[in-house]
Amino acid sequence: MALIVQKYGGTSVRDLARIRNVAQRVAKARREGNDVVVVVSAMAGETDRLIRLAQQASEVPDLREYDSLISTGEQVSAALLAITLQSMGFPARSFLGPQIRILTDSAFSVARIQKVETARLRRELKAGRIPIVTGFQGVDAEGNITTLGRGGSDTTGVAVAAALKADVCEIYTDVDGVYTTDPNICPDARKISRISYDEMMEMASLGAKVLQIRSVEFAKKYNVPIHVRSSFNDKSGTWVVKEDEKMEKVLVSGVTLSKNEARVTISRVPDRPGVASKIFTPISDAHIVVDMIIQNTSSDGYTDMTFTIPKGDLKRALKLVKKTAEEIKAQSVMADENIVKVSIIGAGMVSHAGVASKMFGALAKENINIMMISTSEIKISCVVEAKYGELATRVLHQAFGLEKGDLQKDG
Ligand code: ADP
Ligand code: ASP
Ligand code: MG
Repeated sequence: MALIVQKYGGTSVRDLARIRNVAQRVAKARREGNDVVVVVSAMAGETDRLIRLAQQASEVPDLREYDSLISTGEQVSAALLAITLQSMGFPARSFLGPQIRILTDSAFSVARIQKVETARLRRELKAGRIPIVTGFQGVDAEGNITTLGRGGSDTTGVAVAAALKADVCEIYTDVDGVYTTDPNICPDARKISRISYDEMMEMASLGAKVLQIRSVEFAKKYNVPIHVRSSFNDKSGTWVVKEDEKMEKVLVSGVTLSKNEARVTISRVPDRPGVASKIFTPISDAHIVVDMIIQNTSSDGYTDMTFTIPKGDLKRALKLVKKTAEEIKAQSVMADENIVKVSIIGAGMVSHAGVASKMFGALAKENINIMMISTSEIKISCVVEAKYGELATRVLHQAFGLEKGDLQKDG
């Protein structure tokens, strides 16, 4: 008998028919003799709808209230699944994050889980019931409801699995596993059967939204095996596990596209010590994560500064940056939401020359202009105009031969 945590994403609980399908899967795992804890997302589209409502109510909503609002979608799907399971004769009970006590810090809208209390969950399991936990939410030390950032139910799933020392965390979604790139963009994408935590973290951080990055961080830290699979069939999916020798270090193992990018440019920034700190400190204090930063070479004592941030943080960031720009007497602040980031990822890249030039060449061949570049040992990212994002993804996937069976590890 195993202890399994099953997390179901929004498309898997989109309507009552899908919720019934989930209930049947849960029931099956139970009938096979396992203890099952379920974590659910909101019904597909619901969190988006709630976010739009908040934005209609105020351009910059108070984040405490924002979290109270957008966490409600999960309450609906959790209770509906519990009711469905009960109607099938299975004792199930739904629980909100604060009822379990999923403790987080107080960074509203991007809170981090600090602790998952297990007493209530264990009691439920012992009594033979199936606990259904709302994903995406927790509670801070003051009792405020917090949310974990978009896609955060994955992290709830893995954090619950880690706390309970579960045998596996199954992430059920609308694709058969983790692919070399988003299979909805590139039909040639190939399923990867095993991937290391580190490579998965890189893919997640660069836009492969199939797993939230923090869920992979948790899994790595507590050594929780993740099985990403479809809720619509019984195929084996992708195992995200500790690196092992069987995992060949291929040159490029995946391509990601992140549409969640916005670019801010501050022009004619006086070029003197301390200016960068003045610009970026208020942004980081507001828990906004800055990704790429480019500073032009200085001419006549002035420079231009460009950086990227998540699209959803643009309004808040602009408010802060405009204030700083006035203080430091920069000329103007511009924002551009019409960008995306395409990246190639591969642990083998570090020891090979020519990967970057191959990437730039492939994009140039399609006349795709590169606006910003950043590199690390394991990835290269380019910012391009939004309309070229999907084309760039397909072009790079092909340029690095990812559609071919013999180049991949064991997909
Ligand atoms: P859920 O609602 O189940 O959490 P998400 O929409 O958050 O599902 O994540 C699944 C989606 O992730 C897929 O439908 C796919 O479009 C996207 N995706 C992006 N990159 C990848 C990838 N490399 N492999 C698989 N899916 C990917
Ligand atoms: N419902 C939340 C979202 O849409 C959390 C999740 O789906 O993982 O971001
Ligand atoms: Mg998701």
